[in-house]
Amino acid sequence: MRTPRSLPLQEAAAPTSLNPRMNDLNRRLRMGFLAAMALAGWCVLNPLTSPQEVSPWQAAPPVATSSPAGAPEKRERTLLFVGDVMLARGVYARMETQDDWALPFEKIADTLRNADLRFCNLECPVSDRGHNLHHLYSFRADPLALEGLKAAGFNVVSQANNHAYDWGPEALLDSLERLRAAGIRPVGAGQNDMAAHYPALVNVDGLRVAFLAYVEIDPKEAMAGVDRPGVAWLEPARVLADIRFARPLADLVIVCPHWGVEYALKPTRNQVELAHQMIDAGADLIVGSHPHVVQALEPYHDRWIAYSLGNFVFDQKNSATHRGLMLKVAVRDKQIADVTPVPININSSFQAVLTPAQPATPEPTLVERKSAAAHAQSAR
Ligand SMILES: [Zn+2]
Repeated sequence: MRTPRSLPLQEAAAPTSLNPRMNDLNRRLRMGFLAAMALAGWCVLNPLTSPQEVSPWQAAPPVATSSPAGAPEKRERTLLFVGDVMLARGVYARMETQDDWALPFEKIADTLRNADLRFCNLECPVSDRGHNLHHLYSFRADPLALEGLKAAGFNVVSQANNHAYDWGPEALLDSLERLRAAGIRPVGAGQNDMAAHYPALVNVDGLRVAFLAYVEIDPKEAMAGVDRPGVAWLEPARVLADIRFARPLADLVIVCPHWGVEYALKPTRNQVELAHQMIDAGADLIVGSHPHVVQALEPYHDRWIAYSLGNFVFDQKNSATHRGLMLKVAVRDKQIADVTPVPININSSFQAVLTPAQPATPEPTLVERKSAAAHAQSAR
């Protein structure tokens, strides 16, 4: 193969006109051209990247599959969502005593392993830095707890909650850095409000998923500012704008609000309204947390809203907080095909365990059927 001869410099130079007006025009055209080239170069060198200085895509784009162009994809992917995970206080003490940082997840490891992506709300920073701000309860997990999150296979965790800032900005930023270093994508917090609101974009073997996470629970001092680290606040107008921004970047947009009333069995009217608006703005799924108890799953416009998944790993005393829900989300043809709630319990070692299957309600016997029919007859 012949190497093309490079042009001598003078050949590339623009011809000069004898007409001074034409020279001026040429100069202007050249300057315009150079400016356009500089702009194009800037755009190439500065693609739209996350302000968190990480590549927006965790994994490389998929290699083309053998399925013919245009044919629907056969492979199903499972995304698994769990509720609040708090790895400090009693949970830490238990892990430390047994010298086992994966302890909270061990009894449910198989279920976690069978998913293609795992998400939790991480209700504490993971750090050995910062200062205790002495909130009513202040949580900070030992960095060793990361071993457990890694072993359980969590890919994305929300730090948009009312405990991520318990040890101030230093611990929060350290936590975000440690999570990223461990290959776990934090969402809903950052070095400033742009970073906190930027979606975590994750590639699940070719399926592009955008995660957004927010909190509306005090302390409000945790809210990220223009030049202040913190968490993304659940401001409706901003949230809807974030969803519209994320929509064209991904196949699925999933919003994880930390909201509502602790121990309440139902969401508030405002939550329901906002959840509907989020779906209308383009979200595919809403997965909420904070109340520490499970709340309703609502279908809305062919999408699903889980208002609260309750706890997954926590050490609260109230027995109602020892039950939670996992959400198993099956994705086919890049759309959510099935949403299955899977109940869990938290045992006395603060481990998430699958709730034992309830015995099936026995079929009514012939006698009971007869008497029921007779009862119906007599009631007429
Ligand atoms: Zn909370």
